[in-house]
Amino acid sequence: MNLIFLGPPGVGKGTHAKLLSERFGIPQISTGDMLRANIKQGTQLGLAAKAYTNKGELVPDQVVIDMVRERLRQPDCEKGYILDGFPRTVPQAEALAAFARIDAVVDLEAGEDIILGNLGGRRVCRDCGATYHIRRLDGATTCAACGGELIHRADDQPDTIRHRLEVYHRQTEPLITYYRETGLLINVLAEGDIEHDFALILKVLDLE
Ligand code: ADP
Ligand code: ZN
Repeated sequence: MNLIFLGPPGVGKGTHAKLLSERFGIPQISTGDMLRANIKQGTQLGLAAKAYTNKGELVPDQVVIDMVRERLRQPDCEKGYILDGFPRTVPQAEALAAFARIDAVVDLEAGEDIILGNLGGRRVCRDCGATYHIRRLDGATTCAACGGELIHRADDQPDTIRHRLEVYHRQTEPLITYYRETGLLINVLAEGDIEHDFALILKVLDLE
């Protein structure tokens, strides 16, 4: 089962990709997480990526394409994987088609008000990258998984959020047409709570 999770920032791609990954024991491959790990470790790739991610711009295609190609070669991807945040442009999708066989593309959608609420209230563990929302944190300021401090991502500030949504509409949304034409696209309206939307995803994928 090789899946792509598509959709605007803040729609819940990462949350649902993680749940699916845990349920089926296949890796969640999040290019955002991989880039942030590189930035944190100060690798050359991280240094190159940082200027883009901070501004809410996309990192150049070739950087993420090489990163994902390399990742999919790892043995844990043999039984399947979930791509979360990749591809994000048509050239990335075209490159992916040359080195991966995708079974389905789950396109998560939600109204802009919901997306803005999700992004504005998002908190991330600075140590393990786990994601939370303030409405479910009950005032907690540390990560339930590792105890790390929860922070507001630099690119989750209002101006950058607005810019990321523009970038999504301009550069990523064309992928919906691209994958519809391949017959792989499945639309899911992800406007409920996490449990409800996840059940819906299992259902459309025939995984219940
Ligand atoms: P979200 O889905 O919340 O926007 P991500 O963690 O997926 O956030 O991505 C954060 C940032 O990392 C993006 O704004 C972009 O700068 C960079 N990034 C992640 N994936 C890609 C990609 N496939 N292509 C280009 N840049 C990417
Ligand atoms: Zn943590």
